[in-house]
Amino acid sequence: MADKKDYYDVLGVKKDATGEEIKKAYRKLAKQHHPDVKSEDNASAEKFHEVSEAYEVLGDDKKRSQYDQFGHAAFDPAAGAGGGGGAGGFGGFGDFSGGFGDIFDSFFGGGTSQRRNGPIRGADLRMELRITFEEAAFGVAKEVRLNKDATCETCGGNGAKKGTQPKTCSHCGGSGQIRQQSQSVFGNFVNVVDCPSCGGRGTIITDPCHDCNGKGIKRQQKTMKVKVPAGIDSGQIITLRGEGSAGQRGGPAGDLQIHIRFPAHKFFKRDGYDLHLEMPVTFMEAALGAELMIPTLDGKAKYKMSSGTQTGTVFRLKDKGIQNLRSIRKGSLYVRVVVEIPRKLSDKQKTLIKEFDGLGKPKKSFYNRVKGK
Ligand SMILES: [Zn+2]
Ligand SMILES: [Zn+2]
Repeated sequence: MADKKDYYDVLGVKKDATGEEIKKAYRKLAKQHHPDVKSEDNASAEKFHEVSEAYEVLGDDKKRSQYDQFGHAAFDPAAGAGGGGGAGGFGGFGDFSGGFGDIFDSFFGGGTSQRRNGPIRGADLRMELRITFEEAAFGVAKEVRLNKDATCETCGGNGAKKGTQPKTCSHCGGSGQIRQQSQSVFGNFVNVVDCPSCGGRGTIITDPCHDCNGKGIKRQQKTMKVKVPAGIDSGQIITLRGEGSAGQRGGPAGDLQIHIRFPAHKFFKRDGYDLHLEMPVTFMEAALGAELMIPTLDGKAKYKMSSGTQTGTVFRLKDKGIQNLRSIRKGSLYVRVVVEIPRKLSDKQKTLIKEFDGLGKPKKSFYNRVKGK
């Protein structure tokens, strides 16, 4: 997926383009490259596919914001590789959910009446995936299991008993639609309606599949692999295209939205791609300076703390934070020094501290400095 083009580039729009600008750019390109317009042109078909895919994401506010957050990883069909199939990415012309239909109708003319019993896109499914703080930082491959309406494997989804095939509906000749003439005071009208015999399917199942009762889809438990990208944050969503519920009557499957959750770390606090850590140091280390061994999320780092470092001092270790989802950059690790005061002292230590205090005592007490005495 690394060589996948940026969707904004594909449509030739700016990152902050409005929905209307995106729609316009898409229309223009889709018209230009539509396979019906330039048939037998592979490059054009490829381009059309690319443009459609880009629009499917950028034309949808929710998907667009996911794309802005995660890039292609948000919709990476490879992320679901090994799953129950159907994760082929953009599914061609069947996948025009939402605003797609109206765009096509508007430039390929009328003639396509809305089929009430036509293909239905499967439902989007949501699930929560709990991972660890470290898994989110470094990425992880997980297996998820869920129950969903999936294509019946016994009949392959056509709903007919094994060894039989759905028959073409004789009433409508397989088109699923019939023309009805009606008369009114304005004249004769021809209405196209769903065929009552086959319910608009165009086929009739005489011998239904026992496993799915002829529906072609069945509730099943599916296991699939999810590639959680490094740098994901709690609350973010990974979308596996086509891994939701199976569509009906030839419609495409819905998407599976995986909501990522992970608990806070005991020591590291995450802020975007940066990490924050409180590092206790001894009074002596702070006073004299020291080479600190700082724990990082994936190991350790050395840091030379200068002498006279005050408690609360924050220093930054570059590239020791979290991997950025959209680039190869990493965030920083901010280390806040906390000087620890010993709770228990031996008599000898007390004596030495008193001696030390006597040596370095400022001429004026803080009280006198404040009061100007
Ligand atoms: Zn079946
Ligand atoms: Zn029919």
